[in-house]
Amino acid sequence: MLRSTRKLLGKHGWRLDRAAHNYLYFVYYYPYVRTLYRLFRFLAARFAWLGPLRPIIRMAFDRYHAKFLSGGDARKILTLNADLRVVGEANRDIVPYRYAHSVIFENPGYIAVMDCPCKKTLGAPADTLNSCICVGEATARFWVERLGAKYNARRISPEEALSIVDRFRRMGYVTQAFFKVATGGSTGVICNCHPDTCVSLKATGFARRFDPELSMAADAGYAVRRDALRCRRCGACAAACHFGAIRPAGIEWTLDRSRCTGCGLCVEHCPENALSLYIDPEKPLPLDVDLVRERHAG
Ligand code: SF4
Ligand code: SF4
Repeated sequence: MLRSTRKLLGKHGWRLDRAAHNYLYFVYYYPYVRTLYRLFRFLAARFAWLGPLRPIIRMAFDRYHAKFLSGGDARKILTLNADLRVVGEANRDIVPYRYAHSVIFENPGYIAVMDCPCKKTLGAPADTLNSCICVGEATARFWVERLGAKYNARRISPEEALSIVDRFRRMGYVTQAFFKVATGGSTGVICNCHPDTCVSLKATGFARRFDPELSMAADAGYAVRRDALRCRRCGACAAACHFGAIRPAGIEWTLDRSRCTGCGLCVEHCPENALSLYIDPEKPLPLDVDLVRERHAG
């Protein structure tokens, strides 16, 4: 057995069920995600009226979910130069789900990229597939050593990881960090996601047919401020927003904070630099590794 496989399995201690789940999840990443997608789509189409399914979906989302990242917060994760291990209930202010909210990056300079199972499932263009990024040696080395040929996994530098995220954000993809009980209850996988080709974003749409409050992703924690003097009402921000949070051009600019995920795409797509993010006190805190460290130290 490869050393990286032993390490991946070993992090689950006596929980052999989770070790097996973690191993199978990544080794069969594509069929696993494709099966979940098809099952969820079927349930949403046929059984959205079935009340008892709601708590089951909520339970599933409590165990496997995402957190939107602003471009700045993603960059901080990809350039971490020291281990970060913050485990505990306080992290639920950032990742507001019952389980899987640990922030653990061990040897974060070891980064890998691999083909994204969501994009394969949903028929995304070939040049967007190699976009799922893992930060932290325990899982990233397993990807490279065990899944290199199968899913085009390869080690990349922090600079290449940054350039992948920047490229996708320029193309209008949001950045999400994924948390899953079966992968150790923590994050590490950061992906570049588009609502048309992301199974997680689709899952939220399916789940809302059962309960409009359900979401597989926590908001990034920001809202958007506009400098009215700079704004020329071109509408580029509204066009960049996948969540319908900005009222389109031609009418008064308004932001619906309840729809805003804080992803930051509008800010980056404004040609006049008229927009900026601020921490929204009504949202979960951002996954800003500096903030995570400060809260832990305090
Ligand atoms: S993209 Fe910038 S300039 Fe254009 S409408 Fe939005 S805020 Fe105004
Ligand atoms: S308004 Fe839309 S694009 Fe801008 S941060 Fe909010 S969700 Fe993202």
